[in-house]
Amino acid sequence: MANMLVAGNWKCNKLWNEAELFVDELSQILAQGDGQGQFCEVMVAPPSPYLAAFAQQFDGPFFVGAQHCSHQSMGAHTGDFTAEMLASCGVDFVILGHSERRADHSETDEMVAAQIRAALDAGLRTILCCGESLELRKLDEHFDWVKRQITAATTGLTPDEMAHVDVAYEPIWAIGTGVTASSAQAQEMHAFIRAVLAELHGDSVASDTRILYGGSCKPSNAAELFACQDVDGGLIGGAALDPESFAAIVAAARGVLSPS
Ligand code: PEP
Repeated sequence: MANMLVAGNWKCNKLWNEAELFVDELSQILAQGDGQGQFCEVMVAPPSPYLAAFAQQFDGPFFVGAQHCSHQSMGAHTGDFTAEMLASCGVDFVILGHSERRADHSETDEMVAAQIRAALDAGLRTILCCGESLELRKLDEHFDWVKRQITAATTGLTPDEMAHVDVAYEPIWAIGTGVTASSAQAQEMHAFIRAVLAELHGDSVASDTRILYGGSCKPSNAAELFACQDVDGGLIGGAALDPESFAAIVAAARGVLSPS
């Protein structure tokens, strides 16, 4: 398995001065933990207006990610931005298919597939989000739903391209609700996702693809979730807004914090 990844999704939060403060504080805390435990990649995805400055001004110990890119090419699309634009200002990652974008901006599986294509063509690394609603889980349709999302987004990608795709399993019922999937629920779905990846792309791609968990992951439950065999890190929302709690989640991924 590759290195763990802990990615922070700020969503639509923080003013610029707060963002600068966060970077200073996080950099200091992460520097203190340097070299401890196993290596873990760290990524921070601030709101889009801050991306170029993050990528160009800060030499922080983390990658910079966008929360979205367009499925369309450059042109008459007011307010939108392309993967190439992100890459041209030094952004490393882009989060795609987040359930909030699917809900708030009517993003379809087809649009997410086109975004992944554009992001990979631009040389970006991608985090593909998938996950079911509570209704679908109650109907026992969550596995079919997640399989459909992954199939739609990754069919046709080569193994080299898949090396730049991380998957984030984010059950919608756990996002921002304080309700976390149990480690058994997370492991069950992550193992299923790995099996879907094996079916679509072969065993080697499946075992090399990182599968992150997202949904009310916090310092108190991160170590237990990360101890699951098929959980390779986390996509963190609320707990990524505070440098100390985000750094504690990174420490859990490094194995420095053990499950309580
Ligand atoms: C997210 O939206 O990606 C997320 C995981 O949010 P939270 O951690 O706040 O549930």
